[in-house]
Amino acid sequence: MKSDENLFVGPTEGRDHGQEMRTVTNSTPLLAVQQISMQFGGLRALDKVSLQVAEGQVVGLIGPNGSGKSTLINVLSRIYEPTEGRVEFRGSDLASVPVHGVAALGIARTFQNVRLFATMSVRDNLILGAVSATKAGFVTAGLGLPSARKEERAVNAAIEGVASLLGLEPYMSRVAGDLPYGLQKLVELGRALAFEPRLVLLDEPVAGMNPGEKQVLIAAFDRIRKARNISFLLVEHDMNFVMNLTEYLYVLDFGKLIAQGTPSEISANARVIEAYLGGGSNAEN
Ligand code: ADP
Ligand code: MG
Repeated sequence: MKSDENLFVGPTEGRDHGQEMRTVTNSTPLLAVQQISMQFGGLRALDKVSLQVAEGQVVGLIGPNGSGKSTLINVLSRIYEPTEGRVEFRGSDLASVPVHGVAALGIARTFQNVRLFATMSVRDNLILGAVSATKAGFVTAGLGLPSARKEERAVNAAIEGVASLLGLEPYMSRVAGDLPYGLQKLVELGRALAFEPRLVLLDEPVAGMNPGEKQVLIAAFDRIRKARNISFLLVEHDMNFVMNLTEYLYVLDFGKLIAQGTPSEISANARVIEAYLGGGSNAEN
């Protein structure tokens, strides 16, 4: 696995640090994306995009296919270095920490296409989320052998909490790759939550799910929001889905922000309707 495709976006300083950070309150937004551009050769995938996510807020990022949503998530998890602009997380410049340090700040993510360890159990996938890659080590974590007992207890508590929130208890011993797609996506979300992050970046959480699986995810999301003070940046192609789950929305089209506002403002926005309905081949997956 290449380091820039690192699956482990989690704290390196242990759970106590995360708890301590939770008590911090100030007016600085949790996440501030400032004038971010991303150029791939001749293609400008993001063009001076700015957005903010406040503490505890669920923010949606929508837009047609190819509008730059995943690119922004990849910038925020430092898979891509932006061509210009700055990202601040809790007031610190994201670029000033090493790539693996992003995790320690408390940013976790899921991927548009599920990335689990398909041959490992659900429990072990969650453990890999809960155990810091840099602290206990990838191999040790993979074997379920965290070096310190204290850490092992903390890990167990973290994964049990996540399993209960997401209703994954019946599947803990199952091989992840054998589960239906919707459950795999839940496990991936569980792995992100097992980091006990401050901010979770969700890249198309319901893509490929059937209606029943979507309902399970919506219910789980509701429980997460009630139980934990986590902020979400939720990227979706499916506008109806985000309308129900988010408090504030940003809309991308061809790498540019074309609108922002509450879900009701956005659903009445002529430019957004045009981007979705008037874009011909862009409008569908
Ligand atoms: P979305 O997630 O909104 O569907 P993406 O962020 O995946 O869109 O892609 C935005 C644009 O950037 C697309 O035109 C895509 O082909 C291009 N793109 C994304 N990643 C790369 C890359 N690594 N190299 C070149 N072009 C890319
Ligand atoms: Mg995408």
